[in-house]
Amino acid sequence: MSRGCRLCPRSCGADREAGERGVCGETGTLRVARAAPHFWEEPCISGTKGSGAVFFSGCPLGCIYCQNRLIARGGVGREISASRLCDIFFELADQGANNINLVTPDHFAPMVAQAVVQARGRGFPLPFVYNTSGYVTVETLRRFDGLIDVYLPDFKYMDEARAGEYSGAPDYPRVAAAAIGEMYRQVGRVKFVTAPGEDEPLIKRGVIVRHLLLPGGLRDAKRIVAYLYKTYQDAVYMSLLRQYTPVDAVSRHSLLGRPVKRKNYDALVDYALSLGVEHAFIQEGGAVSESFIPSFDYEGVERCR
Ligand code: SF4
Repeated sequence: MSRGCRLCPRSCGADREAGERGVCGETGTLRVARAAPHFWEEPCISGTKGSGAVFFSGCPLGCIYCQNRLIARGGVGREISASRLCDIFFELADQGANNINLVTPDHFAPMVAQAVVQARGRGFPLPFVYNTSGYVTVETLRRFDGLIDVYLPDFKYMDEARAGEYSGAPDYPRVAAAAIGEMYRQVGRVKFVTAPGEDEPLIKRGVIVRHLLLPGGLRDAKRIVAYLYKTYQDAVYMSLLRQYTPVDAVSRHSLLGRPVKRKNYDALVDYALSLGVEHAFIQEGGAVSESFIPSFDYEGVERCR
């Protein structure tokens, strides 16, 4: 970790080695809030055995409607070393996980990359999934070139004003578009594999871009779908999410304080179909659930004694 951190697009220059916290909320020490099989990702990621999700503390983006506020704002997390992280990967594999799902690793990139290199050196067999808000620099992603099998970025906004108002990041559209381009350059088209004990194929390689539809966000969501399809056609998959849940912090917000209307989500799916999108994950009505938000109780973080 450099002393003046420029790892993410905030480029805030915090001296994290000296214990200073950046805009992401983190110092130079790796912190993890949970490491356990997770069953609420897309079916090709979770499968029936779960995705081995490692939730890192802090976040460079900081959306006002954040669904994982406790962890993103750094409220929870245990300090661990890169080599402990590597051991966690093996423990998740022993629990039967289909892959290792690195959730918001951007601001710990050097240590996470080191742990992945260590794991590969020890013959680690599972794919690594890089799961990010999309607010990540191309330079940071290049540290993972050849290490990551599947990228799972969000594309939250195409509209700079919304990105500024909701996430304090008017540059988000430009940053996310460049990041997805780099991800695609590294891993290419989506590829699946049939795994023993799984009914559905699992993703082996590629990029799945998520978009969480927000209340009042249909127009921007359509722009994102159109951009992705025009740029990548079906080489990159989309995952259109309707699980938005208003949190206390936005309960009085004129738009974000209410759930997404079913008819708006349906309109987004219809729009994708009308463009010719053939491969996209969509959520059924019952998908809006608190079960998507796991307990950040340090499960799997500390070494078993
Ligand atoms: S990763 Fe954190 S400390 Fe580094 S530039 Fe981004 S916000 Fe600042």
